[in-house]
Amino acid sequence: MYKRIGILGGMSPESTVAYYEYITRTYTERYGEYGYPEIIIYSVSFQPYVDWPAEGRWDLVASGLGQAAKRLAAAGADFVVIATNTMHRVYDEVQAAVDIPVLSLLDAVGAAVLARQVTTVGLLGTRFTMEQPFYREALAAYGLQVLVPGAEDRAYVDRVIYDELVAGRILPASRAGFQAIVERLVSRGVQGIILGCTEIPLLLTEADTGVPLFDTTAIHAEAALRYALDEG
Ligand code: GLU
Repeated sequence: MYKRIGILGGMSPESTVAYYEYITRTYTERYGEYGYPEIIIYSVSFQPYVDWPAEGRWDLVASGLGQAAKRLAAAGADFVVIATNTMHRVYDEVQAAVDIPVLSLLDAVGAAVLARQVTTVGLLGTRFTMEQPFYREALAAYGLQVLVPGAEDRAYVDRVIYDELVAGRILPASRAGFQAIVERLVSRGVQGIILGCTEIPLLLTEADTGVPLFDTTAIHAEAALRYALDEG
């Protein structure tokens, strides 16, 4: 029996679905049958997790997600993935709330970037992910240097995430905007870009940019699959 995966999701539903699809489809593509690991999805109501970070109430984010992780454990999950980059701001508190492992997206991303021999990398994500130290510090432990866009570009990326992508709105004009921001980061010397928000891969792919893009949803979902199968 494989380990049962607990997905702490709903932040947003768009990317929670992508985790679920990645894990089930990838298993079947790889092994030619449908014996993928069992999955429990706990989908939170997203609005408080938009409001609390904006109000600086990370204590409420931590206790809410800690409670949700406990419910996943009580329902029989063998481990948890927090299916969003931003909420890794409270990774330590969520892990402390449960006795089962919480598989960190930041560790999976650090290892994936290093594996492609990229050492200076751009980071796109919510303003919390780009501006607070938790993401950069976690990647610094892998020897990676992380550059973020300038203030105006950060505001643009954050707005597109919360006004469009989490609602499943994929607009060509925003894709062009993201392409220009990627070009500006490349001109500052980055060798690749972390799509550090689980919805950005819905908008932008490597074919749109010509530089290595690190799809954090696929990287984290792959880590969850491998861990469930005892390969990770
Ligand atoms: N899913 C997004 C992320 O990966 C942003 C939504 C959120 O969790 O606030 O950071």
